[in-house]
Amino acid sequence: MKSKVYFIPTKGSDSTAVINEKLKSLLDKSNVLDFITKGNKVAVKLHFGEEGNTGFVNPEHLRVICDEITGNGGSAFLSDANTLYRGRRLNSADHLKLAYEHGFTKKVTGVNLVIPDDTKKENVISIRINQKFIKEAKVARVFVDTEDLIVVSHFKGHILTGFGGALKNIGMGCATREGKLAQHCDAAPVVYSERCIGCGKCAKICPASAIVIKNKKSVVDNLKCIGCASCLAVCPTLAMFIDFNAGGKVQYKMAEYALAIMKGRKNKSGFINFAVKINKECDCWGLENPRIAPDVGILASNDLVSIDKASLDLVNKVCGKDIFKAVHPDQDGLRQLEYAQEIGLGNLDYELVEL
Ligand code: SF4
Ligand code: SF4
Repeated sequence: MKSKVYFIPTKGSDSTAVINEKLKSLLDKSNVLDFITKGNKVAVKLHFGEEGNTGFVNPEHLRVICDEITGNGGSAFLSDANTLYRGRRLNSADHLKLAYEHGFTKKVTGVNLVIPDDTKKENVISIRINQKFIKEAKVARVFVDTEDLIVVSHFKGHILTGFGGALKNIGMGCATREGKLAQHCDAAPVVYSERCIGCGKCAKICPASAIVIKNKKSVVDNLKCIGCASCLAVCPTLAMFIDFNAGGKVQYKMAEYALAIMKGRKNKSGFINFAVKINKECDCWGLENPRIAPDVGILASNDLVSIDKASLDLVNKVCGKDIFKAVHPDQDGLRQLEYAQEIGLGNLDYELVEL
């Protein structure tokens, strides 16, 4: 049976107030938040945007979503996990500060912000999934322990996955730094020796004693490395390097990580995609990047695969071509959704209900 995806068109000229009215109407008519059980905590998974990027979802729209959750009896909070690469979202304190700077304050959204510190064991959970590429997923505990989950995603292009929507927001976004590294690469970090100043910070933090400093240069023992990515975070000269798309498996691994988060969440999750401000690259880019499509609108569904497929189809329709393939010719973004369907995450077949 086809899954329903509800859609309300928006225009680039729409004001925030107009978009908020449309969003409220979408949420009220679609009933995608009706699963929320009175008294339950509701994690709202979001990307707060890297410093210098403005593609992230407008915090004022989050107010509408969180008010709806509250109206359904849920207790919402916004959350995201820290990043693998260096930037303002690498650790919880900086990440939180940046999110506030981007407007995600309680005054604007009406709810608290939780950025779990994944260097603390109690904030991390390993979930055994025994899939083809990932046997055990390392994710932020908050997305597993919280009863209900709403995933709010900005739909846009992505250098490694062609496009990024709800699947990427969950699969990559809920993973700890170790989990993100596992998705991105098969190997231990390598060292750009010309950049290495031999400071020893990487060796000091390495929990596996996999790094030694020889001749004032860092050397990584691949057999000892457990892929925690801690060394990447502390290196002051960016001398640690990861092949972020090793083997081209990132889309499959990302889907398997999403499976870990969605385990036991049947009828306990909802998805909202903003197909607006559609940039070539994701919100992790610390700079503005070109718009590749006009604004399309907002989508809502309880099917993770359907909402991304519908977003993809709507954007491509308005562009008159596969715009994501055009700007990222080396990536076939549809693979992530086909594989997600294969492992039981949702349905590629959907019924679009335009409001
Ligand atoms: S990724 Fe972790 S285990 Fe591997 S070398 Fe770096 S700090 Fe050590
Ligand atoms: S932290 Fe970076 S610069 Fe310092 S020793 Fe390690 S790789 Fe070299």
